[in-house]
Amino acid sequence: MKVAIIGTGYVGLPTGVGLESLGHDVTCIDCDREKVEKLRAGVVTLFEEGLEDLLKSGLQSGRLTFTDSMEQGVREAQLILLAVGTPPDRQTGQADLRHLFGAVKQLAPFLSSDVVVAVKSTVPVGTGDEVETLLRRLNPTAHVEVISLPEFLREGYAVHDFFHPARIVVGTQSGRARELIRELYAPLPNVPRFLFVSRRSSEAIKYASNAFLAVKIHYINEMADFCEAAGANIHEVAQGMGLDSRIGPVFLRPGPGYGGSCFPKDTKAIDHMAHKLGVELSLIRAAIKGNKKRRENMAQRIMKEVEDIPSPKIAIWGLAFKEGTDDCRESPAVEIVQRLANHHVDVCVYDPQAMTTARRILGDSVRYAPDMYSAAQGADVLAILTEWPQFDAADWKRVAGGLRSRHILDFRFFKKR
Ligand code: NAD
Repeated sequence: MKVAIIGTGYVGLPTGVGLESLGHDVTCIDCDREKVEKLRAGVVTLFEEGLEDLLKSGLQSGRLTFTDSMEQGVREAQLILLAVGTPPDRQTGQADLRHLFGAVKQLAPFLSSDVVVAVKSTVPVGTGDEVETLLRRLNPTAHVEVISLPEFLREGYAVHDFFHPARIVVGTQSGRARELIRELYAPLPNVPRFLFVSRRSSEAIKYASNAFLAVKIHYINEMADFCEAAGANIHEVAQGMGLDSRIGPVFLRPGPGYGGSCFPKDTKAIDHMAHKLGVELSLIRAAIKGNKKRRENMAQRIMKEVEDIPSPKIAIWGLAFKEGTDDCRESPAVEIVQRLANHHVDVCVYDPQAMTTARRILGDSVRYAPDMYSAAQGADVLAILTEWPQFDAADWKRVAGGLRSRHILDFRFFKKR
């Protein structure tokens, strides 16, 4: 099948290389020319386990191409996947659809007569209707079906999740579009579970899922505070809760708050949508507020450890919003570091993958260490903010030998070191 993917970010790139490896002809289009040049040269532009190998083999096969030309990319495509960013509006929190509608306007003149346009980006309920109306207006002769095909991959596991999706939700009433999507994923190693629903339901499933997970994280974080105050162990409590099949064991790990490019923006966007519709989503609102507060609290707790020390040094392990990725968008760790740097203390940071992405945000406000042990050297307190397994498996004798005092705030594994 000839597939065009618009946007080669954390969703578009793993999807593009994955689809090529299933045997499809894939053209990835991105307006960022520098990114396109790198990808053409086989250089990955983001960190995901297994991505580089797939990119290289895809380029070698000749079935995977990259371009910044919309015309070249979509002219012959049977299926066009829109995977551009939908960031939050800073003022209102609603999804900013500028990139999405920008891409739709650019592709409209080049549509082939029989094409399915699938919106993979996370978009407010009803966006598919607007995309369809716009495409029909801009190109009345093309026979185009607009469907919703939300993405559920987890950053840090994007390649794995592409090949092993828990479900593929397809929002369409069109039989032709359903068949095309079945055909698209037919070569996957295991037959995925398809859920065919209306376009609006499909758009809502994505928001409802992310908001639920954000609330679950917020819940366990509040329980962690409760357990700490009550003298209980949150890990034991979470284990006991997770054995109940109605609760389940995942997403019960406390931390410095949820982050990344999805949960913060999607909770705000669904809250905004609901408000416009006159519906109150009080749980989601509480999670948004509590999550913000948690980051402030974590920074305060670190500062408290060094309040009596003149010219304190703080070591930070972890900058990415979670392990397995270099993504620092809305990372609690980065926000906590920013708050610490605002107190003009000496902060030295280390992350196995996210140093470059973090530096774009933090600039010269902190020092960057070449490895985790150097970061901890001479520090008065060490805070662990991202759940990289190598941090848990550190040589703790070596760490203790380097620290000025043995204050370790483990906000991820919650272990006594
Ligand atoms: P991203 O910012 O990493 O990538 C978006 C890409 O689109 C960028 O490379 C950008 O240059 C490109 N782009 C923007 N406008 C374009 C245009 N007109 N033509 C061509 N390219 C254009 O974003 P992302 O993290 O991949 O997220 C994409 C969408 O998928 C969002 O709606 C997001 O909410 C959703 N989503 C993301 C994840 C995730 O884990 N990141 C998971 C599920 C869903």
